[in-house]
Amino acid sequence: MDKNFDVAIIGAGPVGGALACALAAAGRRVLLVDKSPLPPMEHPDFDGRAYAIAAGSRALLEAGGLWAALPYPPCPILDIAVTDGKPGRPASPLRLNFDHRKVGDDAFGWIIEARALRIAINQRLHELSGVTLMAPAEAVVTRNAAGVSVIVGAETFTAQLAVAADGRSSRLRDEAGIAVTRIPYRQSAVVCAIAHQRPHNNIALEHFLPGGPFAQLPMSATAEHENVSAIVFTDKTDIVARLSTLDTTRFTAEVAKRLGTHCGAIELIGKRWTYPLSAMHAQRYVDTRLALVGDSAHGIHPIAGQGLNLGLRDAMALLELCSYARDCGAPDLLRAYQAARRPANLLMLAATDGLDRLFSTDNPAIRLARDLGLAAVERMPRLKRRFMQAAMGR
Ligand SMILES: Cc1cc2nc3c(=O)[nH]c(=O)nc-3n(C[C@H](O)[C@H](O)[C@H](O)COP(=O)(O)OP(=O)(O)OC[C@H]3O[C@@H](n4cnc5c(N)ncnc54)[C@H](O)[C@@H]3O)c2cc1C
Repeated sequence: MDKNFDVAIIGAGPVGGALACALAAAGRRVLLVDKSPLPPMEHPDFDGRAYAIAAGSRALLEAGGLWAALPYPPCPILDIAVTDGKPGRPASPLRLNFDHRKVGDDAFGWIIEARALRIAINQRLHELSGVTLMAPAEAVVTRNAAGVSVIVGAETFTAQLAVAADGRSSRLRDEAGIAVTRIPYRQSAVVCAIAHQRPHNNIALEHFLPGGPFAQLPMSATAEHENVSAIVFTDKTDIVARLSTLDTTRFTAEVAKRLGTHCGAIELIGKRWTYPLSAMHAQRYVDTRLALVGDSAHGIHPIAGQGLNLGLRDAMALLELCSYARDCGAPDLLRAYQAARRPANLLMLAATDGLDRLFSTDNPAIRLARDLGLAAVERMPRLKRRFMQAAMGR
């Protein structure tokens, strides 16, 4: 077995897994370690979770051969509708509509099933000869200016760079003494999928409700259902706790109340997933021969479906810097990585946090101001185009 690697990635989640594939496809030797076993991470059944992948992040998935390996087709998002409302009442007529044709032929992004990405990552990790995968395994990582040592069981490996892709509770980040700023939200998110009577027409809907945003994201048809959408809705934690105790019929009625009637009759498919929400940001993304990527570096409110996109863009930046570098862990390369990613991610954190605060209130004055704001932006084609380009990750 090869013992010397260019990059050792700890964490084979969507970000670590995609980065490993892209680096190996670029000719780099990669050690990838995850504490969980990989096969059970691959869900053979439809499980109701999905990711919104912006056009700008697709490049990373293509670089690793993941896009072509997706077993179920991604669903393009062609239009985005943003509305303001109250559950049980029709959305405010003052709404914002983003039409992808106003900025070109490309879709805003795609919705891909979480299990499809997992299956593609697992497949490519086994196909790419440049990746050595160890899972389940515990890695002990030590770093100094000369290099990185990774001990897994009785084996010792070396690498130029260690990448912490080990999620929000990153051990590598804590071991490096990198502090984290956290913003708690007294909200939780419910994620599920629904089949519905009428087509979604590839429109993503963001419906701002006082308890938190409600998103309907268009998904590709499954063998059983022609019209399918992913639902991500946030509400106050106590309300979500109550909803999670409801049986399927009553829970579906709660989804229908927030969704409105444009889809016709709806049916819950797959499981429901509940996540407590908080935002966090690492005060540094780098340390001696260490780079943080994905959720180990940042976590944001899912209001704009950008969490994984930020992680994929971190991975893209590292890929670009490491592809031709003589030393992937060199201090100037790590400085360039932090400069490329930290300000951009902080901006997205602030934007999603601000959006949530602006829309998660029922104060009549603020409601009026934001409805007028939506209507004003609707009449500003240049500003709308800029928003659309940002949603695409350009
Ligand atoms: C409600 C909700 C909805 C979301 N919706 C979207 C969306 O629509 N679009 C979007 O882009 N993003 C979304 N996100 C965010 C997205 O899920 C995360 O950003 C993404 O999962 C982060 O991937 P990651 O690989 O960085 O971390 P993780 O997915 O957390 O993976 C970390 C990996 O590291 C492994 N690991 C942990 N510790 C160790 C260790 N000590 N040693 C070895 N391995 C370890 C774990 O087993 C795991 O495999 C959403 C999040 C939430 C909560």
